[in-house]
Amino acid sequence: MSAITVSTREAATALGVSVRTVQRRAQQGKLTAAKHGGRWAIRVDVDLSIFKPDQVDKAREAVEQRAILRTSRPGMYAAVSSDGSTTYLTHAAGCSCRAGQRGIRCWHRAAVAILAGVERRAA
Ligand SMILES: [Zn+2]
Repeated sequence: MSAITVSTREAATALGVSVRTVQRRAQQGKLTAAKHGGRWAIRVDVDLSIFKPDQVDKAREAVEQRAILRTSRPGMYAAVSSDGSTTYLTHAAGCSCRAGQRGIRCWHRAAVAILAGVERRAA
């Protein structure tokens, strides 16, 4: 298990709370976080080694831009396609996107791993 750090905005997206709430939880020690140059870096224990670096980059970008969001079903996320025309349902083990349907490990699942990692730590 390795660790990455996410911004307060990424953590807020993952947890479905405001950035302010994430900052408060970080101050209270409820999230493993360190302040660098006035900004919180939230530590997330997650193994992303099975994904390619560009997939991890895309996944982080999607989390940051709220292009992948929690659904009411635990562990299930909705990912908006790059052109915004479609929404895929994705979870740790599979995804409804074209790559996912062919059994290819897509970057949506990397995003799910990041989001789930943040939630696990905050629980
Ligand atoms: Zn996918």
